[in-house]
Amino acid sequence: MTTTICKTRFAPSPTGYLHLGNVRTALFNALLARRRQGRFLLRVEDTDRERSRPEYVAALLEDLRWLGLDWQEGPDIGGPHPPYAQSERTAIYADYYQRLEETNQVYPCFCTPAELALSRKTQLAAGRPPRYAGTCARLNVAEQQARCDRGLQPTLRFRTPVGQKVQFTDLARGPQQFASDDIGDFIIRRADGGPQFFFANAVDDALMGVTHLLRGEDHLSNTPRQLLLLEALHLPAPHYGHLALIVGADSGPLSKREGHFSVRELRSSGYLPEALLNYLARLGHSYEHDHWMPLAELAENFALERLGRAPAHYDEAQLLHWQSEAVQRAAPEQLWVWLESAVGKEVPITCREAFVAAVRPNIRFPADAVFWAERLFGAELALSEDSRALIAQTDSAFFSHALAAYAEYGAVYQPLMDDLKRRTGVKGKALFMPLRAALTGELHGPELARILTLVPADLARRRLEAAGRPV
Ligand code: GLU
Repeated sequence: MTTTICKTRFAPSPTGYLHLGNVRTALFNALLARRRQGRFLLRVEDTDRERSRPEYVAALLEDLRWLGLDWQEGPDIGGPHPPYAQSERTAIYADYYQRLEETNQVYPCFCTPAELALSRKTQLAAGRPPRYAGTCARLNVAEQQARCDRGLQPTLRFRTPVGQKVQFTDLARGPQQFASDDIGDFIIRRADGGPQFFFANAVDDALMGVTHLLRGEDHLSNTPRQLLLLEALHLPAPHYGHLALIVGADSGPLSKREGHFSVRELRSSGYLPEALLNYLARLGHSYEHDHWMPLAELAENFALERLGRAPAHYDEAQLLHWQSEAVQRAAPEQLWVWLESAVGKEVPITCREAFVAAVRPNIRFPADAVFWAERLFGAELALSEDSRALIAQTDSAFFSHALAAYAEYGAVYQPLMDDLKRRTGVKGKALFMPLRAALTGELHGPELARILTLVPADLARRRLEAAGRPV
């Protein structure tokens, strides 16, 4: 017995940057393939010549790689079923149009957009679902020829079989049934010769050996058409699954404020890939455990049965939660790469590692690290309101003692604190809070021991002196 390997795919149209919605589709397909030790394929659906742009193709490859969603077949790496961009598959589509023509399963349609719009309006007015009235289905060859001779450019329509039920089991939504009579004959090649989405998409999935695919539920009504086409062409059909859409808090479409972000925007505002992965993997899919998981574990625990059918609500607080988790778990080198453009100038080379270790618990975005870099290394220290108040309340002798202890022990935390305790007779909060306030201008922040090793000695002395000076 041969078992078919699971092959999933992501088939974006490069008409814009990847946003949360379509990157979630990519992720779910990648997770499913990994879960089943299968393959994940990337296909560029660039048949819309006007709106597709090469820079969007480059951007989507880069964004997917940044997220760590590697594919085993695709436009950049090739594979057994090239080419992986639809704009390069015209000859393949021509072959399959011809097969349909030879078996009389398609016909040229000369109806103009205005005629089609009128017919649609009339049907709607009569309370019927609009579908193609079949006008051109009945033309004979001579009539077809006469129209071509007049210079009319026909579309190609598929003759949808009459009176059939189209049934399939959706990977996410369970059994589905459509009546072919509600579909009507549909266009599979545009008047300009370009393939219609349904056609190229279905043919490619079959030829590329895609076995399972997850896509947005806005494509659900395309599926019966695609199943009819594949049957007519004697091509294998994949298992289709349709994911509930991602919506805003008010259940409406995602607005910019509510998460309609491109992956690029999220990346440039400092989100880490693991934060997006952990968030998106739970948007319309539930995990048994709510802990942070690396990609391999997200895949291991991915299950079609756990896909939700209700719309998934975007929740920024959740995304921020996973961002914090990702920051706490990132490798130190990864964090430095992430922080470098924001704090590279301020943080001395020899302090990088210690800086990352010190600020990690206190940051969620590089901008938060800028705050600490300024407080640890900046020549001018701006005191927060409460630090200023605390320093004012503290006996100025405390800071002279601190200077003396610092002169004796430098930044070596425990001996320094023991000495300061001895000199001042205070302990606990009263000991370290004024010190923290004087050294960083803040009452909260990284551990004091780490702060001490980071603040350069001359700065530390100046700050202690300044704190001891009467205002
Ligand atoms: N190119 C289509 C889109 O981006 C693909 C739909 C599908 O996954 O089948 O919407």
